[in-house]
Amino acid sequence: MQKLEQLYEGKAKKVFATEDAALLIVQYKDDATAFNGKKKGTIAGKGVINNRMSNYLMRRLASAGVPTHFVEELSERETLVRRVQIVPLEVIVRNLSAGSFCRRYGFPEGVRFARPTVEFSYKNDALDDPLICLPHIFAMELATEAEMADIRRYALQINALLSEFWESCGVTLVDFKLEFGRLPDGTIILADEISPDTCRLWDSESGEKLDKDRFRLDLGGVEDAYAEIMRRLEEHEKA
Ligand code: UDP
Repeated sequence: MQKLEQLYEGKAKKVFATEDAALLIVQYKDDATAFNGKKKGTIAGKGVINNRMSNYLMRRLASAGVPTHFVEELSERETLVRRVQIVPLEVIVRNLSAGSFCRRYGFPEGVRFARPTVEFSYKNDALDDPLICLPHIFAMELATEAEMADIRRYALQINALLSEFWESCGVTLVDFKLEFGRLPDGTIILADEISPDTCRLWDSESGEKLDKDRFRLDLGGVEDAYAEIMRRLEEHEKA
């Protein structure tokens, strides 16, 4: 499958058309941004790691019955995916307190919740992706009640599958962000990526942060953390 014209360039990926109107090629970049683009940088090799990790995790989810946009890995940075209309929501699942949860409520970091939480942000850069409640999602007709029920159910199922997987790699899945899309027939499927850019991943023993927070918070060792997370995943794959 050949790349045709570039349709979109985001913060971490470029998207290209293909000869098949139902399929797109995603190309992962090493560019990193944080705080809605206010902080910019590059993380050498990140695109390769995020592409391979996201594809590996999407294949695992698909085999457990979660529909995803993944079709085929084309190269170390490029993947063929199903074209969807993105639901303009960031779907965030949390197992432990971190990030905006702690900032918003003045709550300590690293507290495990009795139950995972699911929340939604409205994808809108100009507004800084504000938190949004279900009634407002329905008022703006961003998604239907049936679609939100599917999204919530998939988000919790994905959390259960990924939490168990990462725990077997010695990694705690603290929280993560998902995006969903609609196929032309209206079916909701998982889209975007699952990577250290979109998940908080802490070493289960030491609590060391092995994700994009190393970049966001200037903790150093950013490339090493991405490489370490990929190494853990590959070790699991071999075992
Ligand atoms: N996240 C993301 N993209 C965003 C916002 C959040 O991938 O635009 C991920 C983030 O990596 C973390 C989870 O969603 O794993 C929860 O993020 P949070 O709401 O705590 O926001 P942050 O502290 O990252 O601003």
